[in-house]
Parts: sequence; structure tokens; C-alpha cells
Amino acid sequence: MNVAKVVVDVPVAQTNRIFDYKIPTHMAKSVFPGMRVIVPFGPRKIMGYVLEVTDHSEVEKIKPIDDLMDITPILTSELLQLGKWLADYTLSFYISTFQAMLPQALKASYEKEIHRLSDTLPHSLETFFCGRDYITYQSFIDEGGSYYSLQQAIQAGEIEVIYHVHSKETTKKQTMIYSQVEPLQLEEAIANLPKQAKKKRAILQFFQENREPIKKKQLYMKLNTTHATVKQLIDDGLLKEKKIEIYRDPYQNKEEERSRPLPLMNQQKQAMAPICEALDYSQHHVFLLQGVTGSGKTEVYLQAIQHAMKKNKEAIVLVPEISLTPQMVQRFKARFGAKVAVMHSALSKGERYDEWRKIHRKEVQVVVGARSAIFAPFENLGLLIIDEEHETSYKQEEHPRYHARDVAIHRAKYHNCPVVLGSATPSLESFARAKKGIYQLLSMPQRMNEAEMPTVQLVDMRDELHAGNRTMFSRQLKQAMEERMKRKEQMVLFLNRRGYSTFVMCRDCGHVNNCPHCDIALTYHRNNQSLKCHYCNYEEKKPSNCPKCDSDTIRYFGTGTQKVEEALQEMIPEANIIRMDVDTTRRKGSHEKLLNKFSNHQADILLGTQMIAKGLDFANVTLVGVLAADSMLHIPDFRASEKTFQLLTQVSGRAGRHQLPGEVIVQTYTPEHYSIELAAMYDYDSFFKKEMLIRKTYQYPPYYYLTLITVSHPNQLKVMEITKTISLLLRKHLSDQARILGPTPSPIAKIKDRYRYQCMIKYKNEPNQRNILKKILAYFEGDMRKDDLFIQIDLQPYQLM
Ligand code: ADP
Ligand code: ZN
Ligand code: ZN
Repeated sequence: MNVAKVVVDVPVAQTNRIFDYKIPTHMAKSVFPGMRVIVPFGPRKIMGYVLEVTDHSEVEKIKPIDDLMDITPILTSELLQLGKWLADYTLSFYISTFQAMLPQALKASYEKEIHRLSDTLPHSLETFFCGRDYITYQSFIDEGGSYYSLQQAIQAGEIEVIYHVHSKETTKKQTMIYSQVEPLQLEEAIANLPKQAKKKRAILQFFQENREPIKKKQLYMKLNTTHATVKQLIDDGLLKEKKIEIYRDPYQNKEEERSRPLPLMNQQKQAMAPICEALDYSQHHVFLLQGVTGSGKTEVYLQAIQHAMKKNKEAIVLVPEISLTPQMVQRFKARFGAKVAVMHSALSKGERYDEWRKIHRKEVQVVVGARSAIFAPFENLGLLIIDEEHETSYKQEEHPRYHARDVAIHRAKYHNCPVVLGSATPSLESFARAKKGIYQLLSMPQRMNEAEMPTVQLVDMRDELHAGNRTMFSRQLKQAMEERMKRKEQMVLFLNRRGYSTFVMCRDCGHVNNCPHCDIALTYHRNNQSLKCHYCNYEEKKPSNCPKCDSDTIRYFGTGTQKVEEALQEMIPEANIIRMDVDTTRRKGSHEKLLNKFSNHQADILLGTQMIAKGLDFANVTLVGVLAADSMLHIPDFRASEKTFQLLTQVSGRAGRHQLPGEVIVQTYTPEHYSIELAAMYDYDSFFKKEMLIRKTYQYPPYYYLTLITVSHPNQLKVMEITKTISLLLRKHLSDQARILGPTPSPIAKIKDRYRYQCMIKYKNEPNQRNILKKILAYFEGDMRKDDLFIQIDLQPYQLM
């Protein structure tokens, strides 16, 4: 076994394959699949992942591995397989998928340290440690230490290797105080103390009873003492202080309040039973748990996880990044305590590495996290849960362009275990699969405690205009807000993300011009006063009068949150407003701070974008306002109606979750649009039927698959040429059933001085597609490397801008 098959860290098509390296004798028995190694590659030394260890190579002369980066595998054999599959599935490089599975901290060449876990080490190791608590890995290797003895000691639990992440937060150590002498000796010392040494006496008495180390700060507080006093006892040899590494637990300050499983309601029991059955019989099923907001889905997740844990299985729970609020995390911590790791992007690199390490060391059985937590290196998975499964943030918008749902299902098949997809408003794709019986549908239509969903009032902004109200607040909303101010209740105002509004609308009748072929809103191009379809390139002049009502009030649509805040403040000067958007939440922790402020009732109004739409639970909020439902409805995306429906439903779920009844006011120029009308009635089924018809007519998912190819380059002519060539090649090589739309400028036609063009494939079944696309990429590889050309292929696009 002296050959290692290695994927190297050179993310280009030519090197996207496996290379053979020789395992030198001093590394014999020390190289395993899933480890990273340093290998010579041309004139350089680079990192690579060992996929396999064998005893033969087809290549005649192979170079030896230079060094080991890991002493134990960091990727399991399952994850290695998963990475290979995912790379092929998403047309990414192997190296990119492996890298995507690891925390950032592991990706750079951080210094390694070998830490002692046991007082007695085998002689062969102790000679390196010489009594020290830890030594650097480099010194160990430099002094001729053997990889093999290192691995043996790791397996025996005598030492561990940790990656030293260089950042401020990494060296989180805590000083512990303990007594290293017997209680009898303490007794003697106490007897010898002078009478007035009350503090010292108290301390020693404390350690007579408490033999465990205690945090220094805690000791000072408990016994109302100071460092000077403790220091004297340390100098006398009675106490000892020791620095230990602690995990950087961002949630540690909250005193853990344990929660117990609630007796389940009927609908919860009915949802739980099939999940537990699949768990008990190790069956792979995908369950779609459709439950309105507040129906008790999270409680079902918690108890299903508990069931998995009882069987010694592990669980992964994905929640969208923005709903990883302290509130949500706290619910899992309260139920499972230290058995939970939490992973999301607001953690520092070091913190995320700590959480990952807890999983890797099998110290936790549950991970709650955003998208990438789906790669948690568990080896005994029993349950995978994706909450708010319709959220588009589960799709990664950079290499590898994977969807967490696909990865979850792939992993669950491997582990023979169930997947639970939860949502109040499932994606059309998932609901269609449930209808076809591919997924199993579980429904929870009732809210807990019989609470009603709040009533939704649609306000027609056309009427406001006709009544002479030219502000962005309708009379109804204004009045409702003033009432809340009087009653000292809180409100949430919702505005769609800025920069999304690209369309023009008739303010008289709400009409928006759609593409006759694609049924998406046409995008307004100011420079030549035209309207353009960004899927198929259809174009028309911007009309001066509305084609429907002949009014001349056709206007560009959209307002930023800051402008709304100003107008709001002007209208209700005494209101305290918290604005939450990308600008006010850029800094780490600011998101949480603003929410805390609102939850402590230090503000009357929370004004924000998408990020306030989910997961939040405030008892005192009785009014939710949606300022412009249309801005979501007319984004140039075939999912615009679906997104509008989901968003309105979700936003409404924020009101009246507790004792006080809630009210929702939605302002719109098109109250008759089905996605707005049906969202106001909480009628998912009718929405699904209506929307499916449109998808069928215009050939969109879930009836057809889409592939989006985006090309960008500083030179516009070049981008056009290449996109055209690509679409010609696709027309030639794909089957006649495939439809190729474009080339056309992307909805965002220029980003950072780079022009962007796209073409789109609509297809039912093209088994050859990936091969063709790979060849196209290979064909342009030279230009991509040398000429700043960028070709991006998205086989399951969710972001169509
Ligand atoms: P969802 O995740 O569907 O929005 P939650 O699980 O958050 O719903 O439940 C909504 C509220 O009802 C929470 O406050 C939760 O503690 C409570 N709840 C859930 N299940 C039960 C139950 N079986 N008995 C009593 N209260 C429950
Ligand atoms: Zn009109
Ligand atoms: Zn079109």
C-alpha cells in the first residue's frame, strides 16, 4: 500500500482528476483516505486530498508525498464519495467540493499543535513533550518524530492535534484554580493561619469541599476575594492555577434553561409517527412537513431528533441563515444542551472551527446550522431536517452550486434515514413531488392553541392615488399605525429589498408589461427607453401611455428603506424606528442587537427588508404592514409569484402570535393578482393549482428543468460573441426537445465593469447535457484562464439575475 490517489488544489479543468503519489517509507501506515497532504506539483508544492490508498499505479514514475497536513482523516469516506458525486452533478471541480465541506479555518495552512490529553505518554512521545502540555507539530517532525506513533497515540486518546487558527479570538483560555493537596493538608494549613486571615480561611475551606477546578473569576465572585489573596495561597503551594482552552461558545453566556418535550397535539403526533417509523426501520423517505407558522413544526423536529438520539444516531437541522436567530438556537440548546453544535456565518472563523471540531470528535449529536452544515462529518446520521425548505438561500450561488436539499437526500440515502422538509409554503417543486408520491406529505393545518391566523387586509394603492394620497402610506395603514402608537403596541413594516425594482408600472391601474413569451415582467432600460425580456430577448418601446387604461402615469417603481424611514418619521414624529437592512446590519452582532432592542420595546416600529420576514417572534407586535407587495411580484423571475406568495404568508405569520390579536395590511397596486389574493386567504392549495398551470403553459419548473449559462467579460462584443457561440453549440448538440433561449443581456447587464450575457436551456430529459457543457467549458478554458473570461453554469438556477 504505497500509492496515494490524490486530488490536487488547482481548480482548473485540466487538473480536475486524480494524481498518483508515492507514500514514502517513513509515512507507511500513516496515510489514509480523507487526509490532506502536501505534494510536489510541477515546480510548486501544493495541497491535495487523499482519496484512496492502493498498491499499484498505472504511471511509471511517481513522485513521493512531501508532508502530511492531517494526522487523522478530516473527511469521512462518505464525504469523499459525496464530494465526487457533487462535483459531477454541479459541474464543479473535485477540489472545490471538498473545500466546501470544511470550515474556513482548515483551508489555510494553519499551524498545528500536538496537545497532551493524558498525564502519561508512551516513552517514544514523552521524549518530545518533556513534560510540556503541548508542542508544535513542526518541532515534532523536525526532531524526527514518527507519524505512525502519533496516530497510535491519537487513537489511544493520549494526545490530539489541533489547528491553531491565528486570530484574536483563538486563544480563548480560561484560568482555573484548584487545590493540589489533600483535604487533610488544607485542614492543617487552616489551623496554622493567623486569626485575622478570614479570606484565606474561607478559600481553603472552600477547596476542602470542592475538589474540582473552579474558574478564577467565579472563585473571586463567590468568596468575594482578590487575586492577591489567592496568589499567596498559590505561592504557598496549596492551590494551583492552570490555563485551559475553552471552546468559544457564542451562546455560553445565556444560562441554559432546559426545556422538556411537550405533550404532542394530534396533528403533531400524526406527523411524528411516520418519521419515527422510518428512523426505527432505517428507511430512507423524504417527508414534506407542511404546517402553517405556529403549528408546532419545531417541536416535531425537536422530538424526532430526540428519537434519533435515543437510537444513538445523529441529526442535522438546516435553517436559513437569517432565521438562525438566538431565539431559534436557544430552543435547540435548551432541549439538547451541550449535545448541539451551531454553525452559521455570523460566527468567527475560530468559533466555527470549534463547532466543527465538536462534531468531528463526536462530542455532539446534533448540528443546527445554515446551508453548509449539511456537510457535518457525522458518521451515524439518523435524521436530516430542512426547515423553511422553500428558501432560496439553500442554494449556494458560487462554486460548487449545490442545493442543500439535494445533498441532504443524497446523504440520507447513504445512511438509510429520513429527510424532513418543513415549510408553511413549500416550493412548487417539492409540493409537486409530494403530490406525485415521491415525497410523503405530512400536514399540520392548525395553529397551536387554536390561535387564528391574523386577518390580512389588502389596500388598493390605486384608490389612494385617485383619492389624492401620493405618499407611500395608505390612509388605512397610517390610521392603524397611529392606533398602535396610542396603545403602545409594536409594529413591523416590511419593504422589499432595494435594487430589485427594475420595472415600470402604471400607477393608475397597476398594469405592468410582461413578456408575451415568458410571462415575466419586462425590464426597463433607461438609456434607450425600452422594455426588454431577460429570458428571450424580446423587446418593445416603453409606452408613453398605459396599454390598459391609457393613463400617462407610467413610472419606474421602487424606494429604498432609508427614504421610507424618513417619510415614516415625518408622518409619526414621536415614533421610535429601528431600520434593518443590509446597511444597518453589516457589522457582526448588529442584527442581534437591533432585534434585542426591539424585543425590549425600545422602539415602536421595526422597518426592514426580507431579513425581518422570518423566525422572529415578538409578543407585542400586533400590526404588520407590507408597503409594496408589487416590488416582489414584478422581479424578472418566473418564480416572482411564488416568492410573493411565500413572503406574504411568512410576513403575516409575524403578527398576533401571542395573546394580542394581530392585523396585517398589504399595500398593492394589483390586489386582484392571484398570489396576493390567495396569500391573504392563506390558500396554498389554490395557489399551487393556479401557479402550476402557468408553469406548464410557459414551460418552467417543475414541468421543465432549467440551466442558466452566464458569460461575463469587460468587452461587450466578446461576451455577445461567446454567448452566441455557446447557444449555437447547444442547439447543435442537445436534442430537439431542448429549448435554448437567448443569448440575451442578463437582467443585471453589467457588474463591476463586466458585461453579462446569458442563455437558458429549458428541457425535460437531456442525459448528455453535462458532457456537452463540460466540453464547452473545456473549449473556452484558455480564454477563461488568460483573458479574464468568465462562464458560469447553473444547473438548477434560483437566482436569475
Ligand atoms: P412552528 O415551528 O410551526 O412555527 P412552533 O414549534 O414554534 O411552530 O410552535 C409554536 C408555539 O407553540 C411555540 O411557542 C411552541 O412552544 C408551542 N407548542 C408547540 N407544540 C406544542 C404542544 N404540543 N403543546 C403546547 N405548546 C406547543
Ligand atoms: Zn394603466
Ligand atoms: Zn421572453
